[in-house]
Amino acid sequence: MEKECAFCQIVRGEKPADIVFQNESVVVFKDIRPHAPVHLLIVPKKHIRSLNDLAEQDQEVLSEMILIARKVAQEKEISNSGYRIVFNVERGGGQVIFHLHMHLLGGW
Ligand code: 5GP
Ligand code: ZN
Repeated sequence: MEKECAFCQIVRGEKPADIVFQNESVVVFKDIRPHAPVHLLIVPKKHIRSLNDLAEQDQEVLSEMILIARKVAQEKEISNSGYRIVFNVERGGGQVIFHLHMHLLGGW
């Protein structure tokens, strides 16, 4: 957990977010500046800076994030119309929040 990290603050409940799902290891909330009718962020509770910093032991949480994205897409009824999942990696890849997250975009 990082004190100054916006997503760690959401995980700790110190910063408000529109949370749509959470379990022991992952939280899903609405992006504050949506780029699609449905724009959710799938976030591991553990602070990992980016995909570059993913360790061997993080494989489980990564696959969990993907399965949760699929489940939430079904719940939001965007599965059939289709959706994108996106990781921005480091500044050149468009990452601005340095706590690993997966964008789920759909509903077009
Ligand atoms: P990145 O470019 O790092 O992949 O995306 C970060 C995303 O987080 C952006 O789409 C941005 O709108 C969203 N975001 C940044 N700060 C907050 C916040 O405090 N709350 C929520 N819900 N989303 C945020
Ligand atoms: Zn963090």
